[in-house]
Amino acid sequence: MIYKNPCYKKIKGSYILVVSCGYCKYDIVKYQKVGKGNLLRMHIDRIIKSSIDLSKDLGVLLCPNCGELLATRMTLKRENKDVYKMIRSTFNTRKVK
Ligand SMILES: [Zn+2]
Repeated sequence: MIYKNPCYKKIKGSYILVVSCGYCKYDIVKYQKVGKGNLLRMHIDRIIKSSIDLSKDLGVLLCPNCGELLATRMTLKRENKDVYKMIRSTFNTRKVK
């Protein structure tokens, strides 16, 4: 993970997940997850570090290692925030302490 996220804000009560590619196991992002349950969306401002350049909006999230599609990027109109909508069963997550 080489890119630091300039939009990153520390969030209270969150925990850290590493999201990796489900195809090749490559680590994609370090993410602050809020609340229980599966990862459905990744808010851009909760990403701590990534292997992809977040400043470029490609509309999709592709694994930089194997090129598989893992998520699509969209804007939440209500909050005016960009998120990645994760595609089910294309990625793995693990908790970090
Ligand atoms: Zn991959």
